[in-house]
Amino acid sequence: MDLNQAIHVLKSNGYKHTDKREDILRIFTENKGYLTARDVLRQLKDHYSGLSFDTIYRNLSLFVQLGILEETEFKGEKHYQLKCEDNHCHHLICVSCGATKDIDVCPFEEQLARSNDFKITGHKFEVYGYCPACQ
Ligand SMILES: [Zn+2]
Ligand SMILES: [Zn+2]
Ligand SMILES: [Zn+2]
Repeated sequence: MDLNQAIHVLKSNGYKHTDKREDILRIFTENKGYLTARDVLRQLKDHYSGLSFDTIYRNLSLFVQLGILEETEFKGEKHYQLKCEDNHCHHLICVSCGATKDIDVCPFEEQLARSNDFKITGHKFEVYGYCPACQ
């Protein structure tokens, strides 16, 4: 998803396209990896005086709800990145800088679903560590 597509999703769901929202989205389209609300605030606070953590957080939650961003939690904090085109995608995540890399394989065994009397609707698998730059 690029910036224009993200803005299109926003508008087609009846949400206003504001400079602030565009700037938040731009940070994610220009950064490949996970960021926290705090990271976003740090990048925008000089441009928007009085911008609060709450405003950022509310917008990030909205973008997740609209399927523009995906969220996960590590190091006790929520992290956000652009949602992968492929809905079924697993990642290596750098816990230092938030960089992510797609994992081509899915370790989840279909067998497991069949051998348990459970209707599985989804699953999550993430690997944490340090990227080459942070090692
Ligand atoms: Zn890193
Ligand atoms: Zn991915
Ligand atoms: Zn999988």
